[in-house]
Amino acid sequence: MSTALAIGAHVDQTDPIAEAKARNAPLVQFFLGDPQGYRGPEIRYAGGAEGLRADAEAAGIDLYVHAPYIVNVATTNNRVRIPSRKLLQQHVDAATAIGAKGLIVHGGHVGKDDDPEKGFDNWRKAVEATDLTLPLLIENTAGGDNAMTRYLDRIGRVWDAISAAEGFDMVGFCLDTCHAHAGGNPLETVVDDVRAITGRIDLVHCNDSRDEFDSGADRHASFGAGRIDADLLAGVVRDAGSPVVCETPGGAAEHAADFAWLRERL
Ligand SMILES: [Zn+2]
Repeated sequence: MSTALAIGAHVDQTDPIAEAKARNAPLVQFFLGDPQGYRGPEIRYAGGAEGLRADAEAAGIDLYVHAPYIVNVATTNNRVRIPSRKLLQQHVDAATAIGAKGLIVHGGHVGKDDDPEKGFDNWRKAVEATDLTLPLLIENTAGGDNAMTRYLDRIGRVWDAISAAEGFDMVGFCLDTCHAHAGGNPLETVVDDVRAITGRIDLVHCNDSRDEFDSGADRHASFGAGRIDADLLAGVVRDAGSPVVCETPGGAAEHAADFAWLRERL
């Protein structure tokens, strides 16, 4: 049963269909535009949004969009939070237009000396202010000062804050194994721990980590090349039972090797 899990990868956005086919993957994740910029999403696929939607559907490939890294809807800094919300809505709209199954966004952070309560409440406001036309999957992060979704208790506070917001039914969770490990959350229990808070894990970002447990560093590694125990990594994927995106280094060949490594252990 577990070997039937859908496993794909983070790929270049120009032709995600070709990237999926090159990996024999039933799903792919990609950015829409510059992951570090505020310019807003762009569809680089030759057929445009409609073409990408139709071609993915015809090929039976599920699409996931990763929001830009700079999106931080939690921050107390207006000059970041306001454009972040705008960018988030633009990405929701664009991801919906291509028929994506979900939009992944990092939990963000508040300033070092800020009260984290402000960040939880900013998350509530962001969910209320955003017209969610597809699932928004909030991802755990590895580090950052005063992060919203590094440690479990903070994830719990974010969920407490957003659970009363209009649109909450469209919010899910993306569990990143590298971020959980480097963030200091034991992989032995992280699936149960997260589910106890969110009730759901919609997607797994399966990545090995170049860094130690609780290091706070975010450096992904190919499976078996990092510091995460192989059985623990596979165990998270197995226990979550959700679609998997490998955000590991390399191209189609390296990803195919990662898929095989993982399937062998499921
Ligand atoms: Zn990730």
